[in-house]
Amino acid sequence: MGWARDKRRSASSLYNKTAAYCEKKKIELYLWFPVFSENSMIRSLDGLVDFHGEKIPAAVSRNSGDEDFSFCCPNNTHNIEKILDIFESEFSQLPFNGIFLDKIRYPSCANSRAGRGLETMFSCFCDFCMIQYKEAGFDTRALIAALKSPPASPIFIKSIQENGEYEFNDPLFTEFFSLKGKFIKDSLEHICTYFRKKKLKIGFDVFAPFLSPFVGQNLSSLSALCDFIKPMMYRATYAPAGLPFETEALLRESADFFDCTGIIPGSIDARASPFDLYFTAKDLHTLVKTSSCPVYAGFEINRKENICNAHPAYIEETMRAYAKAGSQGFVLSWDLMDAPEENILKVAEIIGLPHKTQ
Ligand SMILES: [Zn+2]
Repeated sequence: MGWARDKRRSASSLYNKTAAYCEKKKIELYLWFPVFSENSMIRSLDGLVDFHGEKIPAAVSRNSGDEDFSFCCPNNTHNIEKILDIFESEFSQLPFNGIFLDKIRYPSCANSRAGRGLETMFSCFCDFCMIQYKEAGFDTRALIAALKSPPASPIFIKSIQENGEYEFNDPLFTEFFSLKGKFIKDSLEHICTYFRKKKLKIGFDVFAPFLSPFVGQNLSSLSALCDFIKPMMYRATYAPAGLPFETEALLRESADFFDCTGIIPGSIDARASPFDLYFTAKDLHTLVKTSSCPVYAGFEINRKENICNAHPAYIEETMRAYAKAGSQGFVLSWDLMDAPEENILKVAEIIGLPHKTQ
C-alpha cells in the first residue's frame, strides 16, 4: 500500500480498515516506502555530488508530479537517520506486516538531465563517499581523470561474474561499480536491522538484473537481506525503471564511454516496447538462480498513453514467460486502483481465480 501522509487522519483510518480486511483474508499488508529518493519533500536530505564536485540536480522539476526523482547519498549517515525518522514519525504506529523498500539505488542515466548521464552514473563524490573510497583503497583520482578524458576506444564488459557484477576491461570500473553495490548493501543492512527490530517483513524493489550493476544494486547480495525481491521487469514502460526507457538512456548517455554489447546484444532494439521477451525472461532467470529469497517479478497492469501499453495479450505472454523463468510470484505494477479491468481479469484468469467483477 502506497504512502499517504498529506491527509494524515483519513489516511490512518484507511490504513487501519485495509489492515483489518487483509487480516481477515490472511493477506499480508506491506507499506511502500521509498528510501534514497522521493522523500526529500518530507525531510531535507543531502544529494549526490558528481565527479566535477557539483551537486546533481533532480532530473525533473519538483512541481511536475508526485515524484521528483532526486536522489540522496546512501553513504551519508545523516540521510539514513532522517529516512528512518520519516518512518518512525509517520508510519510506525500503523498495523503493517511488512515494509516494501523502493528506490534503494543510485540514479540511473535515465534520471539525469540530457547529456549528463555519465555524471549521474558516476556518483557520488561527497565527503562521506570520499572517506569510504579511501577506506576501500580505491583510487578516486585515477577514476576522475579517466572520466574527464573519455577513452580512445570505449570501455567494454569482459565478463559477468557469478554474483552478477560486471568485469570491465579496465579494473578501475569493475572496482567502482562493485563499491557502489557494497555501499547500497551496507546502508540497507543498517536500515533493515531497524525494520527487523520492528518485527516487519521486508520486500525489495530492484532494477532488472542486467541494469542493476549500474545503479549500485548487487541483487544476489541484496536478496540475503529481504523476504522477497521484486525485479522491475517492465517490458512495456517508457518511463523510469521501464526496460525500453532505461536501456535507451544507458546506451545513449554512455555511448562514447561504454560498449554495452557484452550485456545488451546489438540485435536488441532498446526502444522497442514491449522489450524483447526472450532476453528479459533469460535475465530474470539469472536472478532466480542466485537469489537467497523468493523472486517475484514485477510487470505492468496499468495503461497510460505513450508511457505504458499493457494489454491482456502482453500480460499473458509476460506472466507465462516469467513463470517459466522461475519467478515464484508476481507483483502487479503500479497501481491496482487505476488498472484497466480487462488487465486485472487476465491476471485472475492466469493464476486461476474465479472471474468476479466486484
Ligand atoms: Zn556521497
